[in-house]
Amino acid sequence: MESPMTGLINLPSISVVSSFSVEDAICFELKILASSMACPHCGQSTKELHQIRPILVRDLPVFGQPAYLKIPRRNFYCRHCQKYVTERLEFLDWRRPYTKRYEANIYQRVLQQNVAQVSREEGLTWAQVEGIFKSVNNYVKTNWQPAERLGMDEVSKKKGHQNFVTVISDLERGCLIEAIDSHKQKEIIEFLKKQPESVRDCVKEVSVDMWGGFPKVIEEVFPNAAIVIDRFHVMKLVNGQLNKIRRLAGVKPAGSRYLLLKNQADLTSIQKEQLALILKHSACLSIAYEMKEEFREIYETSKTVAEGRSRMEKWLESAELFYAKTARTIRQHLVGICNYFMNRTTSGVMEGINNKIKLIMRNGYGFHNFDNLRSRLLGCFSSSG
Ligand SMILES: [Zn+2]
Repeated sequence: MESPMTGLINLPSISVVSSFSVEDAICFELKILASSMACPHCGQSTKELHQIRPILVRDLPVFGQPAYLKIPRRNFYCRHCQKYVTERLEFLDWRRPYTKRYEANIYQRVLQQNVAQVSREEGLTWAQVEGIFKSVNNYVKTNWQPAERLGMDEVSKKKGHQNFVTVISDLERGCLIEAIDSHKQKEIIEFLKKQPESVRDCVKEVSVDMWGGFPKVIEEVFPNAAIVIDRFHVMKLVNGQLNKIRRLAGVKPAGSRYLLLKNQADLTSIQKEQLALILKHSACLSIAYEMKEEFREIYETSKTVAEGRSRMEKWLESAELFYAKTARTIRQHLVGICNYFMNRTTSGVMEGINNKIKLIMRNGYGFHNFDNLRSRLLGCFSSSG
């Protein structure tokens, strides 16, 4: 029998078993509905309950009374990893004695009032309110707004270093909305999941380059989003190969690289003549050049995903000879590449954003403390939106 209290508490995947009063507070005992959990290490589902330890967390008041939830903290055993794993709950941050929504509420009130007043009203100590504020500050103070199109990229902290920050931009507003001190899939996912589902569900497209880790992140965090491989990254790949062919063909006149890589349509008539001379040097280069232009033409003129896809597939068949490696990469990412034709979304605006980020990061701001750097980065973009 579903308790009507379950609807009142309104948290995902739980039901209320009972409620009782303790002094002037009300306490709800919860049951977790799932009989298994996914192991955070291997992802496999396990049903082997090892132990349950009830914890008490504070939640939003009910009818003016302070409310607590008695939650079974469940520890499972994963046979696959031979490890004990503790279940994490969506509405509760790891090791916090408050629900997320309670912390969010306190945070908002501190912003509007002050620590002293909120601590008095809630019967919390000053340190507790400050602790909540600090914890929420990590994820509420962002530039997030419901957005349909995002771009995800990584920027190295120092030039030439393998130390990356993952950055997420709102492509429509052209501003940075998140910076994460990691480029590990799991950590990025965990961090982004702090955003409420309602915000994450809005996202329809995420533009990325071809780095392997992002698709999994997008799948997990933005369930309604299509992955769009950025057009310019793909074009850069093709151009890179064309330039290689130019070098192999020994075509070296000054400006030849520029003439070859630039869109034919953007060349002046003099440049077109110069290009024609260059292409006369090498039949190979000439064919490879035509293929590059053909590829660009597919991007320019395809009207639908299906059309783009069928034209790209045709191009790939003939690309083996000159663009073998590039063709392989394109094939691997064909779905994401062709998703471009849905709305012609590109992460063009991200280039400017990323440059600004690099500038801020490399000017020596708080590498010891990423939170400060992040606040600083987000602050720099919040006014430009
Ligand atoms: Zn496991």
